[in-house]
Amino acid sequence: MKKISIVIPAHNEEGNVSLIHQRIKEVFSSELPGYRFEIIFVNDGSRDDTQQKLEELAQRYEEVKFIEFSRNFGHQPAVKAGLDYANGNAVISMDADLQHPPELLPELIHKWEEGYDIVYTVRTYPKQISRFKRKTSDLYYRLLSMISDVNMKDGGGSDFRLMDASVVSVMREMNETDLFLRGLSNWMGFRQTGVRFTAGERASGESSYNLKKMMKFAFTGITAFSVKPLYLAAYLGFIFSLTAILIYGIYVIHSFVAKTEISGWASLIMTVVFFGGIQLIILGIIGIYLGKIFKQVKERPNYIVRSKSF
Ligand code: UDP
Ligand code: MG
Repeated sequence: MKKISIVIPAHNEEGNVSLIHQRIKEVFSSELPGYRFEIIFVNDGSRDDTQQKLEELAQRYEEVKFIEFSRNFGHQPAVKAGLDYANGNAVISMDADLQHPPELLPELIHKWEEGYDIVYTVRTYPKQISRFKRKTSDLYYRLLSMISDVNMKDGGGSDFRLMDASVVSVMREMNETDLFLRGLSNWMGFRQTGVRFTAGERASGESSYNLKKMMKFAFTGITAFSVKPLYLAAYLGFIFSLTAILIYGIYVIHSFVAKTEISGWASLIMTVVFFGGIQLIILGIIGIYLGKIFKQVKERPNYIVRSKSF
């Protein structure tokens, strides 16, 4: 009998963990009777009663396991931890809040049985989600695909995904800091296919992501998969030097013909400030990459486990 591992990161999800376990159990008993399954909850430093709920579940049901982090490490490290410990023939990662419908599991598994190694999901947004969020997300993945060697133009921007055990074992070996798993799984290759789903509402509790965290995650993605921002300095340098030579030429000719000097304190200051700004931006970009190298060379783990049920 094949075994499916389901990895569920949970940060303050006391109202959801038992609910999602129930729904997954139903799906497996009604539609996937030929499979064994385990659910690995990763408690990512929750400050509510998630841990207690997980311990109760793990006591009562043998298919439920948990990993407890020593503090909050973030969604991506939590998924990574689940992958590191899962031993199913296929591993599925999904959110705890039921925005990733368990009813999609049979479809993911059928695609896997057809021979695909990675079955990612493409989220179509329900009407309630603002146009702004849909558009910016779409634009972001287009930009990322344009400047890097991952291609996520047609979706894949979610962490609801099935991976074959062979893929998971490769992923386990990847020990980069600042994880961006959706990019990594796209970048890995293998045989991939996508499945569509409509993200529902969060069952209970509230989202752990705010705009600031989203922006940070977006930058993590770009700097993890592209070095193009570093080339910006070179491109801009070229453009501005050429412009400067041109303008200087015009100035020389003008002062010969008109026999006057061009005055202008304002334009001078503007130019100085403008270039000061550009230089700081470029320095900042170099700083971001330097910071990433700094974090990577320390080789600290992505997460620390405080306890686990197996
Ligand atoms: N999550 C986590 N650690 C965090 C933030 C979130 O493990 O620091 C989990 C959370 O419990 C949920 C999933 O990651 O299972 C997605 O988070 P959330 O629903 O808050 O994000 P959204 O769906 O709003 O993007
Ligand atoms: Mg959510």
